[in-house]
Amino acid sequence: MARIVMKFGGTSVADLDRIRNVARHVKRETDSGHEVAVVVSAMAGRTNELVAWTREASPLHDAREYDAVVAAGEQVSAGLLAIVLQAMGVNARSWLGWQIPVHTDNAHGAARILEIDGSELVRRFGEGQVAVVAGFQGLGPDNRVATLGRGGSDTSAVALAAAVKADRCDIYTDVDGVYTTDPRIEPSARRLGKVAFEEMLELASLGAKVLQVRSVELAMVHKVRTFVRSSFSEPDAPGMDDFDNPPGTLICDEDEIVEQEVVTGIAYARDEAQISLRRLADRPGVSAAIFGPLSDAHINVDMIVQNISEDGSSTDMTFTVPSGDMEKSLSVLEEAREAIGFDVLQSESGLAKVSVIGIGMRSHAGVAATAFKALADKGINIKAITTSEIKISILIDGPYAELAVRTLHSVYGLDKT
Ligand code: ADP
Ligand code: ASP
Ligand code: MG
Repeated sequence: MARIVMKFGGTSVADLDRIRNVARHVKRETDSGHEVAVVVSAMAGRTNELVAWTREASPLHDAREYDAVVAAGEQVSAGLLAIVLQAMGVNARSWLGWQIPVHTDNAHGAARILEIDGSELVRRFGEGQVAVVAGFQGLGPDNRVATLGRGGSDTSAVALAAAVKADRCDIYTDVDGVYTTDPRIEPSARRLGKVAFEEMLELASLGAKVLQVRSVELAMVHKVRTFVRSSFSEPDAPGMDDFDNPPGTLICDEDEIVEQEVVTGIAYARDEAQISLRRLADRPGVSAAIFGPLSDAHINVDMIVQNISEDGSSTDMTFTVPSGDMEKSLSVLEEAREAIGFDVLQSESGLAKVSVIGIGMRSHAGVAATAFKALADKGINIKAITTSEIKISILIDGPYAELAVRTLHSVYGLDKT
């Protein structure tokens, strides 16, 4: 007997038929004698609808009330799944974030889980009860519901698995694992058997939304054995109950991966915007004068490129922010214009960032040059580049995103078995 946390995303609980299918996956595990907690997302499209309502109600709304609205979707799915499980003869009970409780910090809309008290759930496991937990939500220090940022149910699941010391955390979604790139963009993408935590962190933070970044961090820190697998597979198909090797992708330590490729995957993110400050004074403190106010405004700055000054007195600085934050960034910079001291402010939205990721890049030269040549051969212009030990990110015009992903996927041979 083992303890398993199973998480089902929006498309997996999209309607009552899908919820019945989820219940069959859950029943398979309880029938095998395992203790189970299930974490559910809102039904597909529901969170988007709730977010849109908050914007329509008032564009500059109170983040605590945003959370009160958008947390509602998960409540419905949790209750419905508990009802369906009960109807199938499974002893199940739904739980909202505050009932467990899942304690978070006060950053409404993007809260971090601080602690989960899993004791009551564990006690009920002992009585044979399945916990159906609303993902994406917790209880802030202000005693109000707090949500964890989009895609946050993955994080709820991994954090819960760590709290109840689960043997496994299974993230069920609409694809059967983590692929070499988004299989919806590149049909020749291949499913990976295992992905190292560090690579998964890069993939997730650079746009592969199959796992929320924070969930990967928690899995890495708490050593949660995490599998990504499909809820669309037949619940009782052969091998679905294989405890050690369920079908899907295992996120694990690097040393568990025997044959490491140089490049593991390609990620992409749309809706990037570029901001340039021209003819800035080239003096100590100028970066702090730019990025301090942006950080105070909670704007996430990504790629930063500064030119080496030609004349020793002025330079240019370019950086990217999410398109949705562009207007706010421009007004923050205009306000700080005197303190920063720049001549011209330029911006462009609708850009995309494509990234090549692989732990093997640490010990291989020439990976970046291959990418640049492949993109050049397709006539794709590169606007900015950033690199780390295990990734290269390239900023390009948005309409070229898919072509760039496919080009890079094939140039590193990721479509070949
Ligand atoms: P859920 O609603 O189950 O949380 P998401 O839509 O958040 O599911 O994440 C699953 C989606 O992630 C897939 O449908 C797929 O299009 C996308 N995706 C992007 N990159 C990858 C990748 N490298 N491997 C698998 N899926 C990916
Ligand atoms: N329902 C939330 C969202 O759409 C959380 C999640 O699905 O993980 O972002
Ligand atoms: Mg998701």
